[in-house]
Amino acid sequence: MTGRSIDRQQRWNAELPSSIFDKGSLGRRALTFPKWDGEKITAELPASMRRGERADLPALSEPQVMRHFTQLSTLNHHIERGMYPLGSCTMKYNPRLNEQIAAMSGLADLHPEQDVADIQGLLSALKTLERSLQELTGLAGCSLIPAAGANGEYLGMLTIRALHVARGDLDRLEILIPDSAHGTNPASVVIAGMKPRTIPSRQDGRIDLEALREACGPQTAGIMITNPNTLGLFEIDIVEVAEIVHAAGGRLYMDGANMNALMGKARPGDMGFDVVHLNLHKTMSTPHGGGGPGAGPICVTGELAPFLPGPWIVEKEDGSFDLEKIPGEGDESIHSYFGNVGVCLRALAYILRNGGNGLTRATECAVLNANYLLAQMKGFLHTEHAEGCLHEFVASGSEWKEKYGVRAMDIAKRMLDYGLHAPTIYFPLIVAEALMIEPTESESKESLDRFVGVMERIHAEAQENPELLLQAPQITPVGRMDEAAAAREPDLRWAGPCNCG
Ligand SMILES: *Cc1c(COP(=O)(O)O)cnc(C)c1O
Repeated sequence: MTGRSIDRQQRWNAELPSSIFDKGSLGRRALTFPKWDGEKITAELPASMRRGERADLPALSEPQVMRHFTQLSTLNHHIERGMYPLGSCTMKYNPRLNEQIAAMSGLADLHPEQDVADIQGLLSALKTLERSLQELTGLAGCSLIPAAGANGEYLGMLTIRALHVARGDLDRLEILIPDSAHGTNPASVVIAGMKPRTIPSRQDGRIDLEALREACGPQTAGIMITNPNTLGLFEIDIVEVAEIVHAAGGRLYMDGANMNALMGKARPGDMGFDVVHLNLHKTMSTPHGGGGPGAGPICVTGELAPFLPGPWIVEKEDGSFDLEKIPGEGDESIHSYFGNVGVCLRALAYILRNGGNGLTRATECAVLNANYLLAQMKGFLHTEHAEGCLHEFVASGSEWKEKYGVRAMDIAKRMLDYGLHAPTIYFPLIVAEALMIEPTESESKESLDRFVGVMERIHAEAQENPELLLQAPQITPVGRMDEAAAAREPDLRWAGPCNCG
């Protein structure tokens, strides 16, 4: 194994592209401009602004450029390259059809300030999406404006707050949040000017109803529940939770970023939720990661719909579309115009292509795939689910840590050597050495079996040669790095030919 990995390391290094600025040679070009047959124009730039010397730009031929960027595109892992079981993130395959639809010039080339008469097709598409999402969630109103899941949470909180304020209920500021919630939940509550209050989970991972009853009161603005929760578990007592919170005058918010587990099977509106956000970039398949773009529409009850921000798309009697409640100066909106329209169009393409039955089947396959992996891996990696999971499951590397001295981080890093993306690790926080695995419905049985095979092999390595894991990744283009620094202080500039000594 080690010998082979050194070979591969050398091969990688040989293939690793250098900076494009180090390539090429003067006179080569990848682009020919069409001949200009108009009037001759002389340069008008004032002398002070003109370059004195030739710019030190790379000169490359077309094949060189193609190879450079194609090589770059293979350095990172991506869903087109292999399985991407990043729990909670739903890295499913993004069908090419979605891209074609979003790129249609009648949609992609529109200007947001264009007259309503010119954008009837777009408005019709967006309205169809709103209605589809309302149907999926069982709720009466929808806003496509939020640009991400967390942005939807924020708008949802503002909407619930607006309802309480409109009723003169000014002191309802507390939002209850189970300890199994996604990390963005309390953050959104705080940014919306409300106060998060934690509700503990029971032994079985669900909300503790007694603790909930005790926490509810005249200060309760609502509850925010990640459902299924971050353990991949459905809140089985949700109807009772809804009764308790509604009786106290609060409203129920569902973090529906993981609708991949429920779509077509169960509707948040039927469970008693008043607001839900969906992560279109996850459930409805848009390339995502690295910060965007996304779309996190919220669906709301009829009671809350009047508090949604504009512009509202309304269908008139003659079947044409118009805009209402256009934000004026001073009105706050959380995003300009209609949100991230390109992502919304991809989602609509996904929904229409699959149809209602197809979406239900996607959920069934996502849940089946996760349970298949869970069952295959139970024997050698401790998992948290006695009774099966939904679309994802949480394993714990604690036992491996005790026995072999390797941590969840080491397991995840070793997976990269086998061409797999790592699962989400150290989340949820309530599980030690957590590995959160979400295969999604787009993986075939062969690919799931390969995943299990890799995990078995890593298990054997952990016992026989834990160093392999501790030093991993061994054969990726870059080794272990300071991930927080890489994300927070990225250095993306080319600083010229290396004179770093
Ligand atoms: C991904 C996710 C979010 C946040 O969504 P963003 O689009 O990244 O803002 C919130 N809650 C859950 C459960 C998620 O999985």
